[in-house]
Amino acid sequence: MDDPIPLNADKNQKPLTEELANQAGKIAALLVRDGFLTPKQVEYATRIRARLESPRTFLEVLKELKYVTDDQINQVIRTSYESINLENLLLELGLLSEENLKTALQIQAEEKPPKSLREILVQNNFIGEQKLVQVLSQRLGFPLMELDKSQIDRQLFSRGPVEFYAQHHLLPVGTKNGEVWVAFADPLGPQGHEETRRLFGKKVFPVVASLPSIKSILKHFQEKPSPRPAVEVHETSAVSIVDSIIMAAVQEGDVSDIHIEPMLDRLRVRFRQDGILVQFKEYPTSLIPAITARLKVMCNADIAEKRRPQGGRLFYEQNGQKLDIRASFYVTVHGEKIVLRILNRMSSVLNLEEVGMLPRMLKRFREDVLDRPSGVMITTGPTGSGKTTTVYSCINYIKTPYTSIITAEDPVEYIIDGIAQCSINPTINLTYEEALRHIVRQDPDVIVIGEIRDNFSAQIAVQAALTGHKVLTTFHTEDSIGGIVRLLNMDIEAFLISSTVVSVVAQRLVRKVCSKCSGPYRVRAGELLGLGLEAKDIAGVEFRKGQGCPHCRYTGYKGRIAVFELLILDENVRNAILDRKMSHEIRVIAMESNGLTTLLEDGILKAVAGLTTPEELLRCLPRLLKPRPLEKLQRLLGGVP
Ligand SMILES: [Zn+2]
Repeated sequence: MDDPIPLNADKNQKPLTEELANQAGKIAALLVRDGFLTPKQVEYATRIRARLESPRTFLEVLKELKYVTDDQINQVIRTSYESINLENLLLELGLLSEENLKTALQIQAEEKPPKSLREILVQNNFIGEQKLVQVLSQRLGFPLMELDKSQIDRQLFSRGPVEFYAQHHLLPVGTKNGEVWVAFADPLGPQGHEETRRLFGKKVFPVVASLPSIKSILKHFQEKPSPRPAVEVHETSAVSIVDSIIMAAVQEGDVSDIHIEPMLDRLRVRFRQDGILVQFKEYPTSLIPAITARLKVMCNADIAEKRRPQGGRLFYEQNGQKLDIRASFYVTVHGEKIVLRILNRMSSVLNLEEVGMLPRMLKRFREDVLDRPSGVMITTGPTGSGKTTTVYSCINYIKTPYTSIITAEDPVEYIIDGIAQCSINPTINLTYEEALRHIVRQDPDVIVIGEIRDNFSAQIAVQAALTGHKVLTTFHTEDSIGGIVRLLNMDIEAFLISSTVVSVVAQRLVRKVCSKCSGPYRVRAGELLGLGLEAKDIAGVEFRKGQGCPHCRYTGYKGRIAVFELLILDENVRNAILDRKMSHEIRVIAMESNGLTTLLEDGILKAVAGLTTPEELLRCLPRLLKPRPLEKLQRLLGGVP
């Protein structure tokens, strides 16, 4: 790779002479080309370096002189990695001496069959494999990936010849966000990049992997030729494909739903992980009928019915793990889309302290809501906002050997010892209505109504509270005030609401910054504006963001944390409801008189503590009012423990 580097075009500057460029090295020449460094500075630094007593690399001298920063060096490496080779990089970064390079090149010249310089360097201990992949990943900004043959997308793999992969020490791993991820043992230089783009299209995303891991996977595939798309599909292969999909979802650990989607030219399988859909694999369209039929058999759905949506349920047991899965078949233009929701995954219910309420909110929630003997306690939020988890942890808190707790749920998601849980089952005509009619005759202290859906279930909740029961239930509304408004819209009298409802908790789940790869993050001006904040509001605050690592599958996020808004109905709020005030008026009253903090405000404190990012708040939270100053919020909610 010795094509001339276009030199700095500034007319007042002498161009970088060839001699100088040779002494300074490839990366320094790129720094000049990209305008981070002037030829004059190169000249000066060369003179300084010649006078040094102990040898330093040219880049070190430049940094010492404060001409360039490490970030700028990384930036030119990242934009021009195809015109830098491994020896440039290691030599100029001071990771390999000129002498050792010379020796390595001699060894390489004698090696038969020929080997790459990379292999020679590692084999002869000029640099360790682990160190090398780390340097490549860090300097190039490509994720470092631990390869595992089970993650390789075979369909994708079969698009290129194994010999090509072996020659260039690379292999395609999978597809993510429309990009093909290709693992390289050495992504530097032009080798392999052009060909890879030709094979997989323009959108190739390079990642770094160790050479032994790439070799071992290639060996595995060379021994067992990669399967071509099957023309005829046998029943057994559909069985094993469905098994492998479900097992992969279980092994990932945090998959809530599996989406199996027929498309025009393929069957796409995606997993919902931490609330976001992530591509798992693609299969040829020829497999669609067999996979669909297999799933219908597993969950007792009607195989012959292909024109109407239907539901089903399956109990799946493998390797001692029992799974309860709810299936939904929905007819689309390309065939039936299947979504499998994995239920009762959580083996243990969270303690109330673990759901993520900030200290002052938690204290009020316990003392002013859960410790009260009766009343309706509502948790609200869209599907997948973690309502059920909160309700279960409340049950866990309330439950004692002296109380009777009974539930009507659709369906039971976690099983808690010591309480009576009932799953609604429409196939045997056990409706909500019927379950609720009987629930009050069971002499309960606490009633859990899975969800308030209509006037009937709302009436039951209110009546039960009036007769001295504690009622826990959920709703689908945007925020806490919305819960009250929804009850009014269900024709529940304002005086009944104000005398029975104790609290409404609104919540969302935001993704948590990965603890393994988090670093300081400078919040963007647009993000601040979106959150309703100004630079002065967050003076001295350090936000954090994940850089991406194997632990978080290069998303920078791992797990989720709940964000809450707790409305407690005090005198002022009750009067506002009785007076039929508008929802924004009720909101202002609650904020001023009883310490209501909004979802956004709670989220901001969590982002300030480095638990999540401004980006996540913008993606997940409603933004109705400008947040109040941080000190005020900290006073209301307490600091993050
Ligand atoms: Zn990470």
